[in-house]
Amino acid sequence: MINLPPFRNEPFADFTDERNAQAMQKAIEAVEAGLGREYPIIIGGERYTTGDLHDSLNPSKFDQVVGRVHHATKALADKAIEAAWKAFETWKYVPAEQRANYLLKASAEMRRRKNEFNAWMVYEVGKSWAEAEADTAEAIDFMEFYARQALRYDAPQPLTVTPLPYETNEMNYIPLGAGLVIPPWNFPLAIMVGMTTAAIVTGNTAIVKPSHDSPVIAAKFVELMEEIGLPPGVINLLPGDGPNVGEHLVVHPETRFIAFTGSMAVGLRINELAAKPREGQIWIKRVVAEMGGKDTIVVDETANLDEAASGIVASAFGFSGQKCSACSRAVIVESVYDRVVEKVAERARKLSVGSVKDGSNFTGPVSSKRAFEKITSYIEIGGQEGRVIAGGGRHEMAGEGWFIPPTVIADVDPKARISQEEIFGPVLAVIKAKDFEDALSVANNTIYGLTGGFFSSDRERIERAKREFHVGNLYINRKCTGALVDVHPFGGFNMSGTDSKAGGRDYLGLFLQAKSVAEKL
Ligand code: NAD
Repeated sequence: MINLPPFRNEPFADFTDERNAQAMQKAIEAVEAGLGREYPIIIGGERYTTGDLHDSLNPSKFDQVVGRVHHATKALADKAIEAAWKAFETWKYVPAEQRANYLLKASAEMRRRKNEFNAWMVYEVGKSWAEAEADTAEAIDFMEFYARQALRYDAPQPLTVTPLPYETNEMNYIPLGAGLVIPPWNFPLAIMVGMTTAAIVTGNTAIVKPSHDSPVIAAKFVELMEEIGLPPGVINLLPGDGPNVGEHLVVHPETRFIAFTGSMAVGLRINELAAKPREGQIWIKRVVAEMGGKDTIVVDETANLDEAASGIVASAFGFSGQKCSACSRAVIVESVYDRVVEKVAERARKLSVGSVKDGSNFTGPVSSKRAFEKITSYIEIGGQEGRVIAGGGRHEMAGEGWFIPPTVIADVDPKARISQEEIFGPVLAVIKAKDFEDALSVANNTIYGLTGGFFSSDRERIERAKREFHVGNLYINRKCTGALVDVHPFGGFNMSGTDSKAGGRDYLGLFLQAKSVAEKL
């Protein structure tokens, strides 16, 4: 049995320390020298190229190609399923301890190469240094935590002693089979690594279909897993178009499970398609679907208003609001509304937006032209639905990247479109509530239920918020982003998903099935 110290979250490097900044700068230069490489499809350890090349572009500098990725065909998707099942035949019997060891080796290697992974995220998705560091640290956390949890699931499970004479009983968790991992682009390392390693450490094999906007980071991770000696076919890398190759595998009769994180629209479609048994299919597909949010921070008149304003701004505009947990609505009670609105707007106007390459700006671009157009169209809608008090205006692309200034829109109706629909960008709707009661009902008035925040010093109201604010992750008197593995197990209610609680003790159970065995002696 490996003797492991208890799980601890990976600390974040402080880039105000000159040595850390220099090391990061060096990694940026090294990664820049490696931009533009071609990335093949990897199936059963073999490389495949199709010539159907898609460029992954730097959103801070959109003529810069980060990598050129071969897109898979449906025939290669079929081959990937076949390879994943073939690898499963042996991988399922590899002892849990050995499987956990692969994750520990990978986390150690990633820790050594943290800045390199950070730098790839700076280039491919426009993360600031600090945001990239948090992403890599979370990926390391997932591997360290799931390695330990796999051992717990593998240990003898407690059962009541049988009342039947001469019988022994056991219950074991066994893997499901070969499945599909579909991550989003916004935590291109952490979420992709979390879903993939949860699947494999429990004895499954996986096909990773990375997001169109972050395929290079997925390729870097799969290369790392090869380097640490993970057997071929346990993880297969299948870049491709979601609706084409992704959907082909979702409906495939031999897909055993689908671990998805992304938008509500895609999650619901996958859930619906996966629910229908196809010819030759002999199981109900297991679907884990973590989806979008419309996350709200409530502020009442007893709150520390400066802390509330800072918490709202950090949650709304960190990584340009492109986190599922980002605060996209602030609901403020009437008596302190004007003061909080002013403080929020003042802080938002001071945030610097621009290239993240040298680590100087608070936040970078939004992910793509498509995201830029969607977000700016919501800002136009917001201009009609409320009063733009920071950002807004015409959104020049700054000639180089998809930059949008932090935008605050006040006096928004709780039922307005920008109050209800996920924008996934640096846009905050501010809503006035009569009192705490009213604020709580506004907070619960969307179809989502992912994160939420409440700033108050009133104990009774805090207790009520704990009971009645219907979100998977609630934060009191702090920002509503930045969930840490096994500190804030993460997942949402209602249309925010299946509440899988990634980074929590129950998560690996989603990739397992329990087998009870009784033997008469
Ligand atoms: P998205 O839904 O557009 O794409 C997610 C993934 O699904 C991508 O890999 C994409 O290629 C794939 N895909 C798209 N269409 C598909 C189809 N028809 N069949 C199979 N696969 C398909 O989401 P995104 O833009 O990458 O990510 C942002 C969204 O993810 C936001 O809504 C955000 O709130 C959500 N998100 C949720 C969580 C969470 O834990 N709840 C975490 C991060 C992001």
